[in-house]
Amino acid sequence: MTVGIVGAGQLGRMLALAGYPLGLDFLCLDPVREAPAGQVAPLLSGAFTDRRLLTQLARRCEVVTFDWENVSVESLATMRRAHGARICPPVAALATGQDRVAEKRLFGKLGVPTTRWRAVDSRRQLMRALTDIGLPGVLKTRRLGYDGKGQAVIGSPADAERAFAALGAVPLIYEERVPFDCEVSIIGARSTSGETVIYPLCGNVHAQGILRLTRAPYGPAAWQRRAATYLERLLEHFDYAGILTIEFFVRRGRLIANEIAPRVHNSGHWTIEGAATSQFENHLRAILGLPLGSTRALGHAAMINLIGSVPPREQLLKVPGLHLHDYGKEARPGRKVGHVTLVEPSAARRDARALDLIEKLAAGVGIP
Ligand code: AMP
Repeated sequence: MTVGIVGAGQLGRMLALAGYPLGLDFLCLDPVREAPAGQVAPLLSGAFTDRRLLTQLARRCEVVTFDWENVSVESLATMRRAHGARICPPVAALATGQDRVAEKRLFGKLGVPTTRWRAVDSRRQLMRALTDIGLPGVLKTRRLGYDGKGQAVIGSPADAERAFAALGAVPLIYEERVPFDCEVSIIGARSTSGETVIYPLCGNVHAQGILRLTRAPYGPAAWQRRAATYLERLLEHFDYAGILTIEFFVRRGRLIANEIAPRVHNSGHWTIEGAATSQFENHLRAILGLPLGSTRALGHAAMINLIGSVPPREQLLKVPGLHLHDYGKEARPGRKVGHVTLVEPSAARRDARALDLIEKLAAGVGIP
């Protein structure tokens, strides 16, 4: 049974690595021949919109999924229409996830709290949004933003003018800046049969818009229940199949939804070693209609992203219990090139070890 993956990044690579023990085969599509998933699975090399390659993918695969949020909705919809390809997660969820305004509207409709926001298509609307929502705020592109790209913190009307000019003549959204206490995410899987499982809540730390650290399980049981309820509403709404993630800000114990990701998520990488079944395996089980695996945490996990370059593996592997994932990418500043995970018997020990490791990685002095 072959699973098609549009996009061959690290998420596709980890999907393939999770699927081989289940007896699955993979076929990826990506413009970059050396892409991370292309190193472990067959790859069709070409544009995400290449009709000939999309047709091949549709014909050769039982189900087609994606590992990248900005895959063309139109291309996937054409694959479904013209070739009867089964696309999971649903294209409607992808389309919503690509547009911050559609996302906010859906949260509103389903009773999931969000920041206050306004759509901004002109300088006049921007000034109006500043008056309505106030300062400070965050001005973001509605589409194609990731890892903090396409957004600017606004502290004054002059900042807003500058950001408006810099972000270009594209649809924008202005949001209230939430002075959050922490950030969390909830990840769950729903299978084609409607079976649903939800992972323990993840606590996330970002810097310059990029995820640096995830710890799980995280936070009080009340947050877990709230987040799970919100996630279940979205899963039902889309008649979803696969993994879905919601990212939240937490302010005075209140969960405020920021965005969704209709795919396996960086904050779920800890599940490879830290949960009974990884998010990657459960995504595959879900889209193939197989029974879902337990999401139980096996301990207290910390996942640290390796940004820019992977430190010498001899040094990393000296750290007792450390699991290394090298995505096979070329080093480049700001790029996610790998991650490491620790699983500990207590939250206190996990936190101490994770902080120590982060300091050493940041100092670039290697790990003694
Ligand atoms: P996003 O691309 O929306 O996920 O934003 C990346 C990161 O920027 C978030 O994880 C937050 O750390 C920060 N951020 C984005 N929007 C806001 C906001 N409205 N208030 C406070 N922080 C934000």
